[in-house]
Amino acid sequence: MEKMKAIKLFLEWNPRKDFNLGLRDIGGRRAQSGNQIWKNPQIEVVTAPIPEIKPTEALIKVKACGICGSDILMAWPDEQGYTRYPYIMGNSQTPGEIIIGHEFSGKIVKIGQGIKAFQKKTGKEVFKIDTPVVAQCVISCGLCEMCKEGKFDCCLVNEERGFSVDGAMAEYAKADIRELYSLEDLKPQFASEKKMFVATTLIEPLAGVYKALINVAGGLLPGENAVVIGGGPMGLSAVALLKAMGASKVILIEISKERLLLGKKVGATNLINPNESDVYGEVLKITHNSGAKIYFEAAGIASRIWPAIDKLFQKGEPESKFILFGHGSGEMRVSHETLIGTYSSLVGSHGHSGVWRNIIRLIEGGVVDAHKMITREITLEETPKWLEILQTNKEQGKVVITF
Ligand SMILES: [Zn+2]
Ligand SMILES: [Zn+2]
Repeated sequence: MEKMKAIKLFLEWNPRKDFNLGLRDIGGRRAQSGNQIWKNPQIEVVTAPIPEIKPTEALIKVKACGICGSDILMAWPDEQGYTRYPYIMGNSQTPGEIIIGHEFSGKIVKIGQGIKAFQKKTGKEVFKIDTPVVAQCVISCGLCEMCKEGKFDCCLVNEERGFSVDGAMAEYAKADIRELYSLEDLKPQFASEKKMFVATTLIEPLAGVYKALINVAGGLLPGENAVVIGGGPMGLSAVALLKAMGASKVILIEISKERLLLGKKVGATNLINPNESDVYGEVLKITHNSGAKIYFEAAGIASRIWPAIDKLFQKGEPESKFILFGHGSGEMRVSHETLIGTYSSLVGSHGHSGVWRNIIRLIEGGVVDAHKMITREITLEETPKWLEILQTNKEQGKVVITF
């Protein structure tokens, strides 16, 4: 069997004492809420077999893979030794170990007979050997009630590549044709293939943010204002997309000076460091008391920032939306009158089905420049070190592994 190098996360099944296992927690293998079950996360560079493909799958030579906030949380134990990642985690196939990584791009090197047969029927050969591709990480079943309604991100039995199925921090990864998108049309946009592969690792995070801002929250009209909380890769993606939508002011709230500057580079018009100034007062001043149409929370601090947003809802113009996107803990106390009186709303979002082609088109059209968010390229061997550095280092935008 042929081998490849990969980044593996090793885990120990040890549910917290007061935690009751649910229907989708599979002993020793898969947890629906990782941080309630998995202990002692350890990251290692390993040699693993190259994945074998099914008829509807393609084998991809990975060219680039981004490090996501969730990768950092999965590999980072809390004070009790449990992983910090609160969502689907483990490995439905192999107990206690998984190849992580889900923000990847690469080239097809092997293609299943099922894909070939299907493409023959459509008369379009979208995927062949050497086609550059990305693959979405939410693997929906296609059979459950939610999938039948087209709500793939809410699939009742979904898996996630890099979270519960082996991922792409590896020399090779595989994906089903249902998850694959061709990057062929992007080639003329980039000076080199390498640059294209690095930039397109941002398609996954951009797609998640796009779905939250547009499909879930309804977007905004040109000329309206927006606030983004958190200047990591998700927050930066939100800044870029809000600017592309025609927002007048895009106000970025972030404590890291480096990330505030990155925010400015991707389109933020105003920067607020909450350690240095009062968020409520500053947003009102910048927006001439009208507040923002959209408040996008990407830092996982919704419960901490909420009191300021609550006051902004009350003081600003009606029909504002607070979008919860960053995973976090804590609870928000929402007063009935804030929402009743202002027609404002709180919405949450995860996943990104159905929007990938639009992100690819935004990059093709030069509307979003993903390169501006990438601050460092590293090797696979350097990845364990960087998964640790990024726990506390908040100067970087997106860090990308290249092969
Ligand atoms: Zn991600
Ligand atoms: Zn389903």
